[in-house]
Amino acid sequence: MSTNDCKTVQPYLSAYHDGELAAGQAATVAKHVESCESCAAELSSFTSLGSDFAQTPIPAKPSDLWQRIERELPTTVEPVTLSRRFSVWIRESPYGAGLVSMAASILLLLGFGLWYGGDQGSVNKTAGGMAMHSHDGEEAMSADHMVEFAG
Ligand SMILES: [Zn+2]
Repeated sequence: MSTNDCKTVQPYLSAYHDGELAAGQAATVAKHVESCESCAAELSSFTSLGSDFAQTPIPAKPSDLWQRIERELPTTVEPVTLSRRFSVWIRESPYGAGLVSMAASILLLLGFGLWYGGDQGSVNKTAGGMAMHSHDGEEAMSADHMVEFAG
């Protein structure tokens, strides 16, 4: 390989840049590039492009995407902030106390519903008690009927 023959050296510039040449070939290319401006320019174009990966625009996009994700991360955690804001608003709002007691009432009703639906004995007792008040004299029959109905 002649050190002054660009056409001989240029096919090796890429391999030289990637460090794929044998030591002798690399030395020849290096020597030519030192004395040849156009081959040095071509080699530096490989250098500026970097690896084969960097020659495609794809790696730049995920990096942009990642930066965008990082910017949008506060938006992702917004629900936590929102609930925090809500609890602050509950404390500071004049309606806050009312809402809290309303929520407590709802929870109480839900709890009662669970207790009511979950305990068949209580259902029978309550139904029997109601029957006793509304149907005097028939309470025994009503209670029996309710027990039968409830299984
Ligand atoms: Zn050259």
